[in-house]
Parts: sequence; structure tokens; C-alpha cells
Amino acid sequence: MCGIVGFTGARETAPLLLEGLKRLEYRGYDSAGIAVMGDQVIQVEKVSGKVQKLSDKTDGGAAVPGCTGIGHTRWATHGAPTDLNAHPHLSNDGRFAVVHNGIIENFAELREELIAAGYTFQSETDTEVIVHLLESFDGGDLKTTVMRTVARLEGSYALGVLCSDKPDTLYAVKEASPLILGVGIGENYFASDVTALVSYTKNAIYLDDGDFAELTPAGITVFDSTGKKIEKPVSRITWTVEAAEKGGYDHFMLKEIMEQPAAVRAAIAPRVKDGEVHLDEFDLSPEELKQFNKIVITACGSAYYAGCAAKYALESLCRIPTEVVLASELRYGEPLIDSHTLLIVISQSGETADTIAAMKECRSRGAKALAIVNVVESTIAKLADWTLYTWAGPEIAVATTKGYTTQLAVLFLLAMSMGRKLGTLDDDRYPALLYDILRLPKLIQNAIDLNHGIPALAKKYHKSPSLFFIGRNTDWAVALEGALKMKEISYIHAESYAAGELKHGTIALIEEGTPVIAVCCNEHLVDKTISNIVEVKARGARVLAVALRGNHKIVSQANDVIFIPEINTLFSPILAVIPMQLLAYHVAKENGCDIDKPKNLAKSVTVE
Ligand code: GLU
Repeated sequence: MCGIVGFTGARETAPLLLEGLKRLEYRGYDSAGIAVMGDQVIQVEKVSGKVQKLSDKTDGGAAVPGCTGIGHTRWATHGAPTDLNAHPHLSNDGRFAVVHNGIIENFAELREELIAAGYTFQSETDTEVIVHLLESFDGGDLKTTVMRTVARLEGSYALGVLCSDKPDTLYAVKEASPLILGVGIGENYFASDVTALVSYTKNAIYLDDGDFAELTPAGITVFDSTGKKIEKPVSRITWTVEAAEKGGYDHFMLKEIMEQPAAVRAAIAPRVKDGEVHLDEFDLSPEELKQFNKIVITACGSAYYAGCAAKYALESLCRIPTEVVLASELRYGEPLIDSHTLLIVISQSGETADTIAAMKECRSRGAKALAIVNVVESTIAKLADWTLYTWAGPEIAVATTKGYTTQLAVLFLLAMSMGRKLGTLDDDRYPALLYDILRLPKLIQNAIDLNHGIPALAKKYHKSPSLFFIGRNTDWAVALEGALKMKEISYIHAESYAAGELKHGTIALIEEGTPVIAVCCNEHLVDKTISNIVEVKARGARVLAVALRGNHKIVSQANDVIFIPEINTLFSPILAVIPMQLLAYHVAKENGCDIDKPKNLAKSVTVE
């Protein structure tokens, strides 16, 4: 999820690897390491913390001599960000070193198998299975060894492999994680993105998923997943470093919006096995779950709105009363919370000060806390009784996008898993929900693709002094997040109302041309929201509706319509929010705002 680099040539590699890792720093990471082919043996140096610390430790790389090597910046998913868990990982015989970005979904079974076969593990990472598999499959031909290893892996991975038997050779493997090859003269490279390559070469080879490559100083050979040699064009890198950091997008926010299918996949895929949801980190028995007579969700900002959206799934599938409370309010309240309360604490960073305080307050009253966070070993993760990581990867833009949708994905899985165990989610409903949750990554991609008209819509709306977002039930939760996105990055006043509530006051503010964004994705309530659309239109509002594809009724009622794919209502917020994100983004862009770093805001709110 963070970065990998590799170099083979005639120059000292460690300083080049360190330089490449520094260029990948913008991606965010918690540890760094390098492995260099020295005189017969592979030397590994790794630290938790910054690349600079690694550079200091190795005297700028001088302490790690050799001309072939691999490097890594880690964003921990499995195991704390410690020195031992940092990559590269080394095989027991010291002949193989591996760097890995991504998640090995079947690592637990592989680990068991390898331990039974006598391999010892140094780290808690999922990655370490790879290096032991390499050793176990070693039959003398490195290419075959790599292929046999990769054939056992499920999940997402960009891998760099170094083997002391072939001191000037590297292997690079790509599957659902970014990896690019750099073509030099008498030297060759790989890296997670072109930022790490641009200072060495402008010639790159882009791998497709399933491809792998052998790199030596003399050349690069690319193979498909069957091991057949394939020709890949060498492309000229024209991006500046700044453009490369953003993957060619104008802003990190847009890049992160586009990363949502992959991020949601990383959150869901490892947790669904053989048709059942398995939350290994929250594996309570039905009896233990039955002890909870109430769920309280606490969070701030978008995480709070994720809670608002997931409440419906939790109540519907688990039949447990669920309250969503702002952490800044809960911390000073007198919450009616005891040991029969399941407290769900949501925070992207895991460091949100108000959320930590609310969590402490509730735990002091006996509640058990389940954390849903993105950053491994963050304060909230450490304080919690159980933690479900969202595995969204680092989020750089201040306004959250993939952070929010992965929180929703985890909350939906939680509702399904608890519902199954409690017996409240029966066989009539379960298969359809399972089908939808597994399709979510694809449906999010479809929602993004269906939204190509948003830049044009943004041109219609960007001068409005004020926008209203309405919806009912699950749609209202999305409207709340939509209004927040709009406010935080475009600085336009935006308000969200439960659609049925408008007539109790707010409708007085609707005038000729006032934009109203109406979320109509809840199939049970669509007609009710259409009535509200008619009401505001009668008072001059210009209505942009977000609706499920196939809802033709809406076209005759709204001025503009954005469609999302059809989905079970309980899960619809994860799709309906996509147009909200894109609309806020394009409106802010029209207005020339500093989208990734909006004024007055910080990514992680560690003050009260
Ligand atoms: N899953 C691996 C780990 O936790 C790799 C994380 C990454 O992509 O940096 O070590």
C-alpha cells in the first residue's frame, strides 16, 4: 500500500534505494527498510519510523555495500509498525529477501502450513509467508520458484524478490497493487510509481496484473502469469514529480476517490470465506453477542456519518437498538452505558481526540469497545477491546473519501456477521446481501463510471451561495456526508435535512434557483422523497437527484439526475456517496479551492 523500489546495476544501490524511498514518502508510511546483495550474503537494514532514520542508521547507505537491492516503505496492515515487522523479510536460510505492498488474504493458512513444515517466523506480518514459501519451493531455478510461490498467494501484492543465488537479479511481481519497471542503461529498476524512477530514467514499462519480470543490469524480461515471455512497450515518462505523486490526477482527493474500488476490496475480500463473513478480530460467540442489548456508535465528522449510515444495517440485520452519538457530545454527557453496551468507535486516523475521550468515558462505565480504524496500532486501536482495520491505505487529502467508504464496508460486514450469529439474519435474506457485498468494489467502479457528467453539473452549481441536501433514512445519512464534503472543500454553505423535515421550517429558505440535491436511492422511500422534490420545485428549487439506475420516474421530476447502480438499500450509502464526493470535488475545482488542504482543517484532529 505504500512503496517499494528495486535497483540492479553497477552502482552502489543503497543510496539509490534510499533516494527512491524518500520520493515515495508522500504516500505516507510507518517504517522503512532495504536489503542489499553484499559479498555472498544479503544484508537487511530496517527501522520503524522515517526513511531519514534508516539513512542515518546506514550512513546514507554506505554501511550496506552492494549493487543489487530492494527497498520498502510500509503502511502496516498485519502487525504493529515495529522494526521486526518492517520489510524486507528474510528467509530462514538467509537466501531470499522480499518486499511487499498489499495484503496476502490467505496468509493464516499458509503460515500454519509453513510452521508445520518447520519454518520459523520473525514477524507478525502477512508478508513473511512469501519468503518462506520461496525457500520451500526452491528447486534451483529462481523463475520457477517465484511462480510456484505466487501461485499460492491470494490477495493484492506488488513484490520485489532478491535471491543470493543470483546476485545481480531481481524479480518483480504485480497483482492488484501498483508496480512499474524503469529501463536504464546498464541498470534497471522497479518502483511503486514513477516518482521514484524519474530521477534515474524516463523510460518505463507498465505491468498488468498477473505479470512478473526478471531484472538484471543487462535487461528486463517480462512474463505473463503462465511464465510465457511477453513483449511490453517501453513508455516515455512525461509526468513531473508532482503529477506522478498524484498518479496523474490533479489532486490526491480525486486519486483517492478513484482508489475506492481497490480499497473496499481490501476491506472486504479477506473477510469473506466460503460464503460466510469471518471477522477474526471480533470473533465472539452467539452467547457473548447476546449479552449486548444496545449498540452505541461514536465518532466525529465523516466517521460519524458513516455510523449514521450503518445504523440502519445494524438494526435491520442484528435487531439491536443502535444509537449514533457525536464523540464531542458523548464525552461530556451522562451516557446510559454499561457492560451490556457494545461501543463502536470509528476514526480514520485512530487519533481523534474527542473520540478517544468518549471511548474512555464509555469504557469507564463498563462498555466494551470495538474500534474501526485505518491506522494500525493507533491510540484508539490500542485502547479498544477489539479492532477491525479498514485497510484503506494512507489517505492524504484532508477530506476523507476512501476512509469513509471502507468504514462503511467494515460496518456492513459487522452487521452481517453479527446478524448471522444472532440468528436475526436468516437464510432468506443472507444470499442476496452476500452477493451484493462481494460486488461492492465493482459497483463502486460502475458508480464512478456513471458519473462522467458531474464536471458539467458542477459548472451549473458552483456559484450558488447555498446548497441543500435532502434524503430519507439511509439517503439522509448520505445527504449529511454530501453536505459536509461540499462545505469542507468548496466553502459553499451546505445543509442537510431529512427530506420529510423540510416543511417544518427550512423550506422557507428555498427560492428561485436554490439548488437541492435529493438522494433517492432508498428503494422503499423513493416515492416519498419524490414528493419532497415536487414541494421544493414548486418553490423554485433546481433539483439534482441521485437515483438508482432504472428509476425513470425521477427523470421527469428532477432537473438533473445522476444514477448509481442498483443495490440493496442497506448498502446503498456506499454507492450514493460517490456522486457526492465527485460533485464536491468538481465544484471546489471550479472555484479554485485548495482541495487537498482546505483552509482551517487538519487531517487528524488531535485536539479537543
Ligand atoms: N501487509 C504487509 C504488512 O503489513 C504490507 C503492508 C504494505 O503494503 O506496506 O506488512
